[in-house]
Parts: sequence; C-alpha cells; structure tokens
Amino acid sequence: MAHIIIIGASTGGLPSAYEAREALGNEHDITVVSNTPVFHFVPSNPWIAVGWRERKETAFDIEPYLKKKNIAFTSAGVDEIRAESNQLLLGDGSTLDYDYLIVATGPKLAFDEIEGLGPEGHTESICSIDHAEQAYEHWQEFMKNPGPIVIGAVQAASCYGPAYEFAFILNRVLKKAKLRDQVPITFVTAEPYIGHLGLGGVGDSNGLLESEFKMNDIKWITNAKVQKVEAGKMFVEQVNDNAETIKTHELPFDFSMMLPAFKGVDCVANMSEEVVNPRGFIKVDEF
Ligand SMILES: Cc1cc2nc3c(=O)[nH]c(=O)nc-3n(C[C@H](O)[C@H](O)[C@H](O)COP(=O)(O)OP(=O)(O)OC[C@H]3O[C@@H](n4cnc5c(N)ncnc54)[C@H](O)[C@@H]3O)c2cc1C
Repeated sequence: MAHIIIIGASTGGLPSAYEAREALGNEHDITVVSNTPVFHFVPSNPWIAVGWRERKETAFDIEPYLKKKNIAFTSAGVDEIRAESNQLLLGDGSTLDYDYLIVATGPKLAFDEIEGLGPEGHTESICSIDHAEQAYEHWQEFMKNPGPIVIGAVQAASCYGPAYEFAFILNRVLKKAKLRDQVPITFVTAEPYIGHLGLGGVGDSNGLLESEFKMNDIKWITNAKVQKVEAGKMFVEQVNDNAETIKTHELPFDFSMMLPAFKGVDCVANMSEEVVNPRGFIKVDEF
C-alpha cells in the first residue's frame, strides 16, 4: 500500500486528490494537507472586490467532501518538505511520511519586491479572498469620492487575465453608477503588448482587448516596470525590447489593483536547487 500526499487543497490539489482516488481505488492511502480548512474559489475574487459575491457564496469547508471519498485531511500546513527522506514536517510539529507527493501550493505573492505594493501598502489585491474583501471596503469609500484608477500587473507577475477582467468589472460598475466620466482608468502591465497575457497572446487577444480598451476609454502602458508605490501615486518605468528605460510615468490614483510577482511558497522554495529554480518554482522535467 502506498501513501500519496497532496499539498494544497485548491483548484489544483482537490482534483488531484479525487483523480488519485478514482485511479487507485481504495487500496492506497491519500492525504490532503492544506494550510486552511476552507476551499476558496479564487476566480470569484474580482466579484467579491466589488460586492457582486460574498465569502459564503464562494467558500466551503473541505473536510466533509474528502471524507466521503476516504481521503484524509489536515489543515496544519506544510513547513518543510524533506524530499530526501520522503517526509513532511507540518505546521503543528508532526510529520507525515509519503511514497508519492503532489505539490499544489499555488504561488507566494511577492508584494515585498516593490516598495509600497499590495494590501499592506497602497494597492489592492484580488489574489486571495481576504485581499478581495479588503479591496471591497476601499472600493466602497472610493465610490463616494471617485478619482483616477490604476489597474494592472507588475513585472514577474505570472497571471494577467484577472487584471483585464477587473479593469472591465470596475468600468462596468462605474458606468452603472453613472460615475465613469469622473474616473480616468490606466492599465499598467509588464506585458510587451496588450493581450499578450504572458502567453504570446491567445487568438486575437491583442486586437480584441485593445479594441475594448479603446471603446471603453481605458488607457494603457505596456513594457512597464513599477518602481515603487506611494499613497495615491505609482512610479512606473517604461522600457524597450532591450530593457532600456524610454519613459517614466508618475501616475496618481485613488484606487489601484496590481497583480504581484509570483514566487514559490516557502516549503517549496526552501528545497535544494536541484528541485527548484531561483524563483522557488519546481523544475519540470520530461516526465
Ligand atoms: C483573481 C483571479 C482570477 C482568476 N480567474 C481565473 C479564471 O477565470 N479562470 C481560470 O482558469 N483561472 C483563473 N485564475 C487562475 C486560477 O485561480 C489559478 O490558476 C488556480 O487557483 C491555481 O490553483 P492552485 O490549486 O494551483 O493554487 P491556489 O489556488 O493558489 O491554491 C493553493 C493552495 O495551497 C495552499 N497552500 C499554500 N502553501 C501551503 C503549505 N505550505 N501547506 C499547505 N497548503 C498550502 C493555499 O492555502 C491554497 O489553498 C484566476 C486567478 C486569480 C488570482
């Protein structure tokens, strides 16, 4: 009998556990180790940040669903992956031995790489439900006294789609409230062109998104490096294809949401450099 452990119980981890159970039958042990007892549907966070959804509609307790499939669960979190001895050190000091390990921890949000970025600084985030709820509090204040908005994704962000989605959501909310004409919106992104999405584009995402931005009066700055953020002001350097600065911008804002750079979470990033790259992501081989 083998023991399969899955770290993380979100969009990656839960289906991994269900698929493993289905493929293996009940002959093997499966354990999911999360650092939270609750599943959060991350793609709903942009709606939470404008009050279109509430926490109770997008989150639920994980354990009862795993129990039904004979999958063990703990929310103690993983502090250390001891790959050489096939063992995990959990947050409560206990250890778990595994034969096979699936790592589905998602990213660490690297707000600290840019001064003033993030929910502890001067910009909002929609990457977690806690961040999205905080953004909604600030959004409600903003709606009483609207001004410029800056939305986008900073250099080394690995996920761009939600920034576009959120720009259009705010555009929609402001239009419905008949406030759009009071709110200049600027989209700031490290992408080389609008609609690149970190993937070199998807179909005509460049044409479609540029066109929608133009139709909805959303200005943009691409090839952008955010230098720092102060209360109400973002400092942005625009670079050319050789990474040389061609322009600097000081963008005033009354509300800003910027997707941060991603890194590997600590228990993953702390593994040997044979396993992880300098950003703390697991290297993928031909298997
Ligand atoms: C705002 C937003 C909107 C999005 N919209 C879409 C969309 O519309 N469509 C789409 O396809 N994708 C969308 N995405 C992307 C999608 O949400 C992610 O690809 C997906 O959530 C990744 O799932 P994951 O399980 O790999 O990681 P995550 O969802 O990040 O989950 C990782 C889990 O691991 C846990 N964990 C972390 N560290 C530890 C540890 N040490 N021990 C135990 N557990 C740990 C975390 O608590 C978390 O529960 C969106 C992303 C964002 C941020």
